[in-house]
Amino acid sequence: MTEQNRVAIVTGAARGIGAATAIRLAADGYAVAVIDLEESAGKDTVEKITAAGGKALAVGADVSNAEQVAAAVDRVVAELGAPTILVNNAGVLRDNLLFKMSESDWDTVMNVHLKGAFLMSKACQKHMVDAGYGRIVNLSSSSALGNRGQANYSAAKAGLQGFTKTLAKELGKFGVTANAVAPGFIATDMTAATAERVGMGFEEFKAAAASMIPVNRVGVPDDIAHTVSFLVSEGAGFVSGQVIYVAGGPLD
Ligand code: NAP
Repeated sequence: MTEQNRVAIVTGAARGIGAATAIRLAADGYAVAVIDLEESAGKDTVEKITAAGGKALAVGADVSNAEQVAAAVDRVVAELGAPTILVNNAGVLRDNLLFKMSESDWDTVMNVHLKGAFLMSKACQKHMVDAGYGRIVNLSSSSALGNRGQANYSAAKAGLQGFTKTLAKELGKFGVTANAVAPGFIATDMTAATAERVGMGFEEFKAAAASMIPVNRVGVPDDIAHTVSFLVSEGAGFVSGQVIYVAGGPLD
C-alpha cells in the first residue's frame, strides 16, 4: 500500500493547524477525512483539497463524545476506507489563572484534548492493527512545559505526551507508530484569541513573540503540517514515542 490509497483522519481540521495538515496530507496523496465540530465547518478545507485534485470528506463530530466519534469513524470507513493515519489536533483554550479557573474550564480542556485523543485513537487503532500499519500523531504544545494561565491546557498537553509514549509501546508490534508534535507559537485563530484576551493587537502580539524566538519569526500552520507529513510517512516507521518541539528554537 502507498500514500495513494491510505486514508488519514485529521481532527479539528476546519481551520488553523488542522486545516493546513489536512491539505498537506491530501497533497501527499492520502484521502483525508476532515473532522470538526460541524460538518459544514470542514467544507472549506475539503473544497481546497478537491480543487487541488485531492480526495477529502467533511465529517461533523465532537471528539470528546464517544458516540459521535464511533459514528464519525464508521462513516470514514464507509466513504473513504479504513483509516491508518490519525492526527489528533482538535483543541480549545480556556485560559485563566488557577484561582479563577472554573471546574468547567478544566473539564472542557481535558475532554477535548485528552479524552478526544483517547476516543479517536481507540476507534482508529483496530483498523491500523488489522492493516498491520498505522501512524498516530498527537498535537501537544510547548505549554506542556508549563505556562502561566494554562494549568488545564499544560496538564492536558503534558498528558498527551505520556499518552503518545504509551501508544507507541502498545501498538509498535502491530506496525503502528505514535508521536507527538509540540508547537511553539503558531499564528492561528487560537493565538489571535489569546492576543485579544491579553488586550494586544495580533500583529503586536506576534512581533513580541517573534523577538523571543531564535529563528526570529512566529510559526505558521504549514510548519506543523510539514512535521506531521514526515511523521506519518512510511519512511518514518522507526520514529516512535517521540515528542518533536516545533518552536523555532530550543525551549528552556
Ligand atoms: P484553532 O485555530 O482554534 O483550531 C482548532 C479546531 O479544533 C477548530 O476548528 C475547532 O472547531 C476544532 N475543535 C475544537 N473542539 C473540538 C471538538 N470537541 N471536536 C472536534 N473539533 C473541535 O487551533 P490551532 O491553533 O490550529 O490549534 C490546533 C492544535 O494545535 C490544538 O490542539 C492546539 O492546542 C495545538 N497547538 C496550537 C498552538 C498555536 O500556537 N496555535 C501551539 C501549540 C499547540 P471550532 O472552530 O468549531 O471551535
